[in-house]
Amino acid sequence: MNSPLPAIAITMGDGAGIGPEVVVGALADAAVYERCRPLVIGDARRLREAALVRGETVEVVAVESVAQARFEPGRIDVIDLGLLPDGLEWGKLSPAAGEAAYQYVRVAAELAVAHEVQAICTAPLNKEALHAAGHIYPGHTELLAALTGIEEVSMMLSTPKVKVIHVTTHIGLIDAIARIDPGLVERTVRRGHRAMRSSGVEAPVIGVCGINPHAGENGLFGAGEEAEKIEPALEKLRADGIDARGPLPADTAFFLAGRGDYDLIVAMYHDQGHGPVKVLGIEAGVNITVGLPVIRTSVDHGTAFDIAGTGTAEVGSMIEALRQAADLAPASVG
Ligand SMILES: [Zn+2]
Repeated sequence: MNSPLPAIAITMGDGAGIGPEVVVGALADAAVYERCRPLVIGDARRLREAALVRGETVEVVAVESVAQARFEPGRIDVIDLGLLPDGLEWGKLSPAAGEAAYQYVRVAAELAVAHEVQAICTAPLNKEALHAAGHIYPGHTELLAALTGIEEVSMMLSTPKVKVIHVTTHIGLIDAIARIDPGLVERTVRRGHRAMRSSGVEAPVIGVCGINPHAGENGLFGAGEEAEKIEPALEKLRADGIDARGPLPADTAFFLAGRGDYDLIVAMYHDQGHGPVKVLGIEAGVNITVGLPVIRTSVDHGTAFDIAGTGTAEVGSMIEALRQAADLAPASVG
């Protein structure tokens, strides 16, 4: 039986940034429609302006619902919230654009909770603009968690070479170490394991990093954090048949993952996971939120106000984010 392609809500992001351009550029690629049914939540007029600056001849059609969308190459279906002010300047911070970006995410979250879409793919929003509009969230991840009533999610970075899920992310390093405990490590590994399985890896091999240099080197570095915070979690996971190995020295773990020894690396804090991935190039990385009612992917670049409106933004990361969203969405698995 052929299951329908997953419907993906694409939020347009901050209308003053490159979001509208990367959305239009990615959806001008007909191959995207072979993998998913994309529906933009945004502003139809802004998407038409973005098409103009990019020189794309796509048709932008405002629809009221998922049911009205046609998902045909050459046509961009958009739930048009029409919130952006007339003559919004490219590349200039705007609280109105921040408010609009918030509303796109809110509508996408509603569609996800109602099971009308199987994934969300987000174009970048501007945190300053979001805050100026009165929505005080560190970013999309926390915003989507709040909107869907989920207390704990994990951030995964995905590249063709290495995938890494984080036990902690946007929090001070001292606070991060304090927050890590066996329960949080266990839940994070389980979320990563589930995501890998839904992407088609039947028995994922998961490498779990230590906290200290050389994963503590038998007590030489640190105060036994690996034994206290990580090892009890690994024992429970292994007892459940999850192939979670470690605690590994983080520096070599990424090297080993890069040559194929691990399907997924578990990083304990933000820079431990982000550093190695960013070396592979900003274009290569897709940011995935794991643990929401639906999978959410995002480009791993920002609003790039300096080049917004010039039609020069790279769309590769958006195309890759859509591909990963389609791969991880439940409708696409057997
Ligand atoms: Zn970050």
